[in-house]
Amino acid sequence: MRRKRLFWQLFPTFIVIALVSLIAVTWFASASYKSFFINESRYDLVARTNLISDRFGPLLTDRSIPQIDSLCKALGNKSSTRITVIDPSGRVLGDTEENPAEMDNHNDRPEVIEAKNEGVGSSVRYSHTLKQDMLYVALPLNLPDGGTAAIRTSISLASIGDALWSINTKIIIGGLVIAGVMVLVSLYMSRRISGPLEEIRKGSVRFASGDFSRKIPVYDSLEFGMLADSMNQMAQELDRRIKAIISQRNEQEAVLASMVEGVLAVDMEERVIGHNRAARELLGISSEDAEHRTLHEVVRNIDLQRFVARVLSTRESAEEEIVLRDGGEKYIQVHGTVLRDARGNSIGALVVLNDVTRLHRLEAVRRDFVANVSHELKTPVTSIKGFVETLLEGAMNEPESARRFLEVISRQADRLQAIIEDLLTLSRMEQDAGRTQISLRVEPLNAVLKSAIQVCELKAQESNIRIKLSCPEDLKAKVNAPLLEQAVINLIDNAIKYSEAGSVIGVSGSRENGEVIIRVTDRGSGVAKEHLPRLFERFYLVDRARSRKLGGTGLGLAIVKHISQAHGGYPKVESAPGKGSTFSIHLPAAE
Ligand code: ADP
Repeated sequence: MRRKRLFWQLFPTFIVIALVSLIAVTWFASASYKSFFINESRYDLVARTNLISDRFGPLLTDRSIPQIDSLCKALGNKSSTRITVIDPSGRVLGDTEENPAEMDNHNDRPEVIEAKNEGVGSSVRYSHTLKQDMLYVALPLNLPDGGTAAIRTSISLASIGDALWSINTKIIIGGLVIAGVMVLVSLYMSRRISGPLEEIRKGSVRFASGDFSRKIPVYDSLEFGMLADSMNQMAQELDRRIKAIISQRNEQEAVLASMVEGVLAVDMEERVIGHNRAARELLGISSEDAEHRTLHEVVRNIDLQRFVARVLSTRESAEEEIVLRDGGEKYIQVHGTVLRDARGNSIGALVVLNDVTRLHRLEAVRRDFVANVSHELKTPVTSIKGFVETLLEGAMNEPESARRFLEVISRQADRLQAIIEDLLTLSRMEQDAGRTQISLRVEPLNAVLKSAIQVCELKAQESNIRIKLSCPEDLKAKVNAPLLEQAVINLIDNAIKYSEAGSVIGVSGSRENGEVIIRVTDRGSGVAKEHLPRLFERFYLVDRARSRKLGGTGLGLAIVKHISQAHGGYPKVESAPGKGSTFSIHLPAAE
C-alpha cells in the first residue's frame, strides 16, 4: 500500500469540512433570507390589497368593467404592482398587464381558492403570462348580491432573486475568506502535528542505528511529550543493556583471546560458532572464513572432525591426542565437552586444544639424552672392561703390555670422570635454574677472565699456545663469578684443543650496544657452517673420533649455553673452517 504523509491525510479533511460547512451556511442563509423576504412582501401586498379593495367595491357592485380594468392599470402602474380583479364566477374583470377578455377563468388559482376559504390567500408561482416567478396575494371581497369576488395583487420575485444574489455573493466571499483562513490554520495545525512526529521518527531511526547520544526533544503537548519521554527512556535502557552486553562480550573475548589453549565451539550441525586466537593459530584458520561454516570446510584434519562428531553423537566428554601435519608436525591434546543451554539441551560442542608438541619434543630430547649418555658412558666402560679382561687373561704377566693397558684404562677412567663431572655440572645448573635464580653480583669482568686464563695456562703452555687478554679494567657486569669462569674456561679449553701448536688465542671483554660481550678467538680448525646451529646441543660432536682423542665430551658448549642463559644472556659462534672460530658470551650490561 502506498503510504501518504500525515499532512496529506489531515489537510484534505480540513478542506472538505470547511467547504461543506460553507455550502451549508450559504444554503441555509439564502433559504432563510428568501423566506423572510417573501413573508415581508406578502404582508406588504396584503396591506396594499386592503388599501385598494375599497376603491373597487362600488365598481364591482355596478359591474362597470371598463372602469375596473382602467383602475387596475392606473393603480398598478403607479405602485409597480400587478392588480387583478376576479368576479365570483372566476372571470377576470380587470388586470394591470393584460386584456381581461383574453384571460382564462381564475377561480382555480390556489391563492384565489385560499382567499375565499380562509380570508387571505397567497402563492408563489411561475406566471406563464409574464414568464417569471411571481408572488400572488388575494383577498375576498363580499358583494351586496351575496357573491364573493377576489382582488389579487402580485409582484415579480425577480427583485428578490437579485437581492438574494447580492447577499449570497457576500456570503460566498465571506465563506471563501473563512475557507482561506481555515486552509492556513489547517496547514499550521497539520504541521504542528506532523512536525513532532517527524522528529520522533528521526529519533527512533537514530536509536535503531545505535546512536543514543542525542535524545528526542520533549514537547509541551501531553501526548507527544509522553511519547518522546517513553522513547527516550527506552533508548536509555537499550543503551545500558547494549553497553552491558558489549562489555560482557569484551571480557569473554579477552579471556578467550589470552588463553594459551585453543578454544573452538561448534553447533549441533558442526558449524563453527566460536574460536579464539590460539585455536586459529593452531589450526591455521583466518577469523573471516571460520564464522558459520562447517568444521569440515574450516579444518582439514580428519582426526579432529571425527573427534568432534563423536562428542556430538555420544554427548559425552572425550579426550584424545591428534597430530596436525600442515607445516611441520604438531601434537595436539584435544578435550571435548558438550555445550548445553540454560535448559540443559545440547546445543553443540566445545573443544579445547592444547599444543603438547613441546612436551613431545622434551620427551624425545630426554630419550635421546639417555641414549647419548648411555652410549658415551658405554664406550669407555667397554674399553676398560676389555683391557681388564686382557690383563686377567695373562697380559698382567708381561710388564710392558700391562703398563700400556693400564695407561689406556686410566685414560678411559679419566674420560668417564670428565663425562660424569660435566653431567653433574649441567644437572646442578638445571636444578638451580629450575628452583631459583642464580645469585648475580656486579663485578669487574677483567678478574673473572684473568682467573679463567690462569686455569688454562698450563695446558696452553704444553702446546706452546699464548693467551692474550684485552679487557678494560673498569668494565663491570652482573655475574656469578665461579659459573662465568667455568664457561670461559670451557671456551678457552676448546680453543686450545682445536688450535695448532704455537698459535695465539684472544680473550676479550667489551661493551657494545647495551651488552657486555666476552669473546674467545682462535686461529684453529674452525667449524663447518652446517654444524654451527647445533654446536651448543648436548653431546654434539663435529668430529667424534677427533674430539674423543682430545678428551672432549660434547657437553662443554652445552654448559656454556646454560651459564649464559642463567645470566640472562646467550652464546654465539662465528667460524670458518681452516681459519678459526670466535665463540662469544653476550650478557646484559649492568646499569
Ligand atoms: P667437547 O667437550 O667435545 O669440546 P663441546 O660441546 O665443547 O664438546 O664442543 C662441541 C664440538 O664443537 C666439538 O666436538 C668441536 O668439534 C666443536 N668445537 C668446539 N670448540 C671449537 C673450536 N674452538 N674450534 C673448532 N671446533 C670447536
